[in-house]
Amino acid sequence: MSPFFEGDNTQKPLDKYYKSSRRPSPLPPLGPIKGVYLPIGASFNYMSHPVDFDVIIVGGGPGGSACARFLGEKGVSVLLLDKASFPRDKTCGDAVSGKSLKVLQELGIKEKVAAKPNGKVKGVLLSAPNGKSFVVSMSKPGEVETNAYCVRREILDNVLFEHATKVCQFRERVQVTGLLKEHSQVVGVKVKDLSLEKEQELRAHLVIGADGATSVVARELQVSQIPSEHNCVAVRGYYENVSGVTDNIELHFVDDLIPGYFWIFPLEGNMCNVGVGMVMQDMQQRKLNLVDEMKKALEKEPFKSRFAHAKLHGDIKGWTLPFGSYKKKLVFDGAMLVGDAACLVDPFTGEGIGNALTSGKLAAQQALLALEKKDFSQTFLQPYEANVWKELGAELDLSYQLQKYSKHKPLINFIFSRAQKNPKIAAALSEMLVNETPREKTLSPLGLVKLLLS
Ligand SMILES: Cc1cc2nc3c(=O)[nH]c(=O)nc-3n(C[C@H](O)[C@H](O)[C@H](O)COP(=O)(O)OP(=O)(O)OC[C@H]3O[C@@H](n4cnc5c(N)ncnc54)[C@H](O)[C@@H]3O)c2cc1C
Repeated sequence: MSPFFEGDNTQKPLDKYYKSSRRPSPLPPLGPIKGVYLPIGASFNYMSHPVDFDVIIVGGGPGGSACARFLGEKGVSVLLLDKASFPRDKTCGDAVSGKSLKVLQELGIKEKVAAKPNGKVKGVLLSAPNGKSFVVSMSKPGEVETNAYCVRREILDNVLFEHATKVCQFRERVQVTGLLKEHSQVVGVKVKDLSLEKEQELRAHLVIGADGATSVVARELQVSQIPSEHNCVAVRGYYENVSGVTDNIELHFVDDLIPGYFWIFPLEGNMCNVGVGMVMQDMQQRKLNLVDEMKKALEKEPFKSRFAHAKLHGDIKGWTLPFGSYKKKLVFDGAMLVGDAACLVDPFTGEGIGNALTSGKLAAQQALLALEKKDFSQTFLQPYEANVWKELGAELDLSYQLQKYSKHKPLINFIFSRAQKNPKIAAALSEMLVNETPREKTLSPLGLVKLLLS
């Protein structure tokens, strides 16, 4: 085994996908590349340049790790890069709902995640600015299985990353600083090893940008900046001993925070993930500091008494959520974007893990076809973008509508008081918020209006 590689060397490339023009040794001279070493296959030049890997994936979060796993298990030579070292934290609400679980199942790690420390979620509690609240179960009648979890990202992402790196090569603490291009074609990445303070260039047929909300790959591809009306800011803290916590996810549309909501999500033991999110444009217009707003909310009822004995662990941290209501370009000559780098967060619920996993899977599918056909042009990669919008587009559009409605306090008060009295409305809202089935397939806004007026 090459001294550059640590780990399982048993993976065999699939001829179908694997007629490589990868550069033979010498391998990159920086820190050790870990993971599965795929022996160099038949030398068959279909690119003008020799490559080190078939695919380089930038970012080992849910989007990147899922993509790496789906490709690696088909025998594609993948290098997964992350500037962090796993396990690493990611500022998040930690809610892993039906859509995420579906892909975790396809990846074969749903049970593994379920066995990790987590908060099992059985329902959703929603409260309106006027204090009216209702709870909806997430299980269908007769179903006993938990439909969602809250898993700290330090745990979830590590499971995903470890699963991916069983079938691909990887480097941690390596930051991508730019893209290598030949004319308009992306042919690799410029990296900086953060441990050794050294820079290097690595080449691949395809580069997949899964590097999150502040994606360097997207910036280098000159994707236009997301407008503040399609971007969200959210802060979260880990609290112990919050009273009244159940196995429900809690979403509170609090008076002072509209448009935006306050959440309490149950975690393992006595811990909770508590946070506040708001559309960036609204936050900027009102000149709000979300950490201060969250603290203010905790000093008022109904939360004051519930947090009387609560203890904050660590800091309250914030990050951005690029909403999928802004349709970004996702394919380029030699590159694709997935997850937050592709702006795919649900504009109503703030859920982005499921869409990152889904887009990672769809990008892997298109990458396999590109490797098979030896065509890495934007035109050939275009079906990936089409598939993302086919799978997620209608739901993202509907969520954007719901987000706009949620800015109107009287409307939320009205909807929630109707839901309190009518279980059908409550169930419809629950389907819209947390189900595995795309939202537009369960209920349209018109359908909801009809229900409300029934
Ligand atoms: C406060 C908050 C609460 C949220 N709550 C939820 C929730 O409850 N449920 C939910 O589903 N979603 C939630 N989200 C959204 C969710 O966190 C993201 O949508 C999700 O993490 C996207 O996954 P990703 O793989 O695209 O990116 P990320 O998880 O951000 O992973 C990107 C990875 O790329 C690496 N990276 C970045 N730049 C570089 C570089 N230049 N070189 C190398 N590596 C790089 C990073 O280290 C990171 O590991 C929340 C977000 C926030 C901010």
